[in-house]
Amino acid sequence: MATIPEKEPFIQALQPSWYQPYVECVDMLRLDTIHPVVSGNKWYKLKHNIQYAIDNRYKSLLTFGGAYSNHLIATAATAREYGMHCIGIIRGVHSIDTITDTLKDCKEYGMQLEMVSREDYAQKNTPQYIEQLSSAFNQPFIIPEGGANELGRVGSSEITQYIPESYTHVCISVGTGTTLMGIRASLPITTKVFGYTPMKRGSYLKKDIDRHIEQKLHETYTLFDNWHCGGFGKHTKELIDFMNTFYTINQIPLDMVYTAKMMMGIEEQLKSGYYPNEARILCIHTGGLQGNNSVKHLLTY
Ligand SMILES: *Cc1c(COP(=O)(O)O)cnc(C)c1O
Repeated sequence: MATIPEKEPFIQALQPSWYQPYVECVDMLRLDTIHPVVSGNKWYKLKHNIQYAIDNRYKSLLTFGGAYSNHLIATAATAREYGMHCIGIIRGVHSIDTITDTLKDCKEYGMQLEMVSREDYAQKNTPQYIEQLSSAFNQPFIIPEGGANELGRVGSSEITQYIPESYTHVCISVGTGTTLMGIRASLPITTKVFGYTPMKRGSYLKKDIDRHIEQKLHETYTLFDNWHCGGFGKHTKELIDFMNTFYTINQIPLDMVYTAKMMMGIEEQLKSGYYPNEARILCIHTGGLQGNNSVKHLLTY
């Protein structure tokens, strides 16, 4: 299996003018280029889920997401490639006329969209609601929101095969924390992992992350939640300017929801001397560029 990636991930060095004289190097692991739709970390979180569903003869997949969800569209495209029916439980009821580009694309890939109230959506992890969905949709294989399950963590841990041991710090944007858990568990313990959350007060995720990784790893990663620009999915003029400048310097497009906020945080930390001079930093580009649709008129790329 594993037919989805069309391209191997690769490491791209950022321009020295972006990080000098603060650290030795800042490189980026480009997961965003592996596939036009199933980009970034989403493929790694999905690959074992889809394989499990196939091996166990499920006829369909069901998962959850908001109207801009990268996970939802990645699941829709993956399911189509594997010829499996798929159902998306969408947070909030959106009129078919004002539906987002993300949901339109999901529909295009054949995903059956089921819009539910925010109250119902909030039940997404309760056994009763799962049971109810399971019987309503003819026993699909259910993947939690964001691919946040054990199979998602196992797939994420495979990302570290692309990370040489020479890096002192590995930086990643954090939504559910699933990808961070996977890479933290399989990187050398001496490599520091820094997670950047794009939502306000995102450090609450530490409790959840700690529950899924060994105790000896609890102090080996740090979460930063200062760079949310108003909250999840929100942006400021400063963020857009940062994205355009970053692209001009490095020729790498960042996504507005996750990776741009992480890189903005790293830039600030570099300038304030947070990273030691001998740091060799690898930032993971987790993809999500479809999320720029709503601001594409503001971007130079
Ligand atoms: C989903 C996503 C993340 C967050 O991944 P988690 O495993 O949920 O923490 C980070 N970056 C991008 C671009 C994403 O689409």
